[in-house]
Amino acid sequence: MSPIDTLVNSAIRPDVRAVASYHVADASGYLKLDAMENPYHLPQHLRTDLAQRLADVALNRYPAASYASIKQRIQQTLGVPAGYDVILGNGSDELISMLCMACAQQDRRAVVVAPTPSFVMYQRSAQFAGMDYVGVPLKADLTLDLPAMLAAIEQHKPALVFLSYPNNPTGNLFAEDDIVAIIRALDGFGLAVVDEAYEPFAQQSFMHRLPEFNNLVLMRTVSKLGLAGIRLGYLSAAPQLLVELDKVRPPYNINVLTQVAAEFALDHVDVLNRQAANLRAARADLMAALAALPGVEVFPSAANFILIRVPDSDDAHLKLLSHKVLIKNVSKMHDVLTNCLRITVSTPEENSAFLDAFAASLAA
Ligand SMILES: *Cc1c(COP(=O)(O)O)cnc(C)c1O
Repeated sequence: MSPIDTLVNSAIRPDVRAVASYHVADASGYLKLDAMENPYHLPQHLRTDLAQRLADVALNRYPAASYASIKQRIQQTLGVPAGYDVILGNGSDELISMLCMACAQQDRRAVVVAPTPSFVMYQRSAQFAGMDYVGVPLKADLTLDLPAMLAAIEQHKPALVFLSYPNNPTGNLFAEDDIVAIIRALDGFGLAVVDEAYEPFAQQSFMHRLPEFNNLVLMRTVSKLGLAGIRLGYLSAAPQLLVELDKVRPPYNINVLTQVAAEFALDHVDVLNRQAANLRAARADLMAALAALPGVEVFPSAANFILIRVPDSDDAHLKLLSHKVLIKNVSKMHDVLTNCLRITVSTPEENSAFLDAFAASLAA
């Protein structure tokens, strides 16, 4: 073995060496419908204003450690209940890893439970923090298996249960009563993390229910709203929990450019909300068009993406690639997703370009 391989094997954990890197497909030249991005830019006049604000930022200074002004904007514009603070993350990906870091134990394996298939970072972050991950399969109709979730909670006493609401990659909202039952079952020992990354498209939220439950943690991001590039997630929960979670947050984790851009965007949140409304309308149109294609099963969606089942997902995916269309083939993620594809909802123009390529891919 070469000296560098010996070094890597000695210094780097075996379970880290064993996993593949988080894969992001190279999208240049493709119609990009694989990552739930908002296809709309900010309008030109706002971009000019934003450029001026960014030009004035003191890049030589660390960010103000309290992040008071951006937090205040979030509290005022995004429905955080009175008396509830937020913690910021470099994307909600960082918040997920902070939650795991804060809950992993040193003398025993703490447990993360989540329905599966769901957002892959729950399992990854649990593993990297040294926690055990227990995935509870969804039912064949992609709804939550509540008895199985409650049994896993009873058996494993998890410190964290992650619930993506709506769920990625399936797109559906789990039943509100089921989520409440899970929050209650964790009472006294575990946190229920409701991940509302797609709230702008679901328009249903547990945010206003924070005061009802000590152990509810509400997590959101501005990524799917149209600001994926600036990397900003936020999390709210009881103040006593936030005090502890904030200790594992890297200081200055939100950079000054992100902070200023986010404040600016939230001052114009009506623009982003209108874009979300357009995407919700486009979602309905795209779902109807997909459902009219022979052999295509369309699952309900409360997100800015649509899950479908086709006769041969690998074949359809490859043919779409040859048409320079990038969607996500999720068919290998889990048995319940056999032959399933996930398509991001985009502008009417991009959606119809996708539909043409997709119809041709199915026919060929
Ligand atoms: C996209 C996504 C995230 C990640 O959001 P970032 O803020 O961009 O890190 C979190 N949770 C779910 C369910 C997602 O789909």
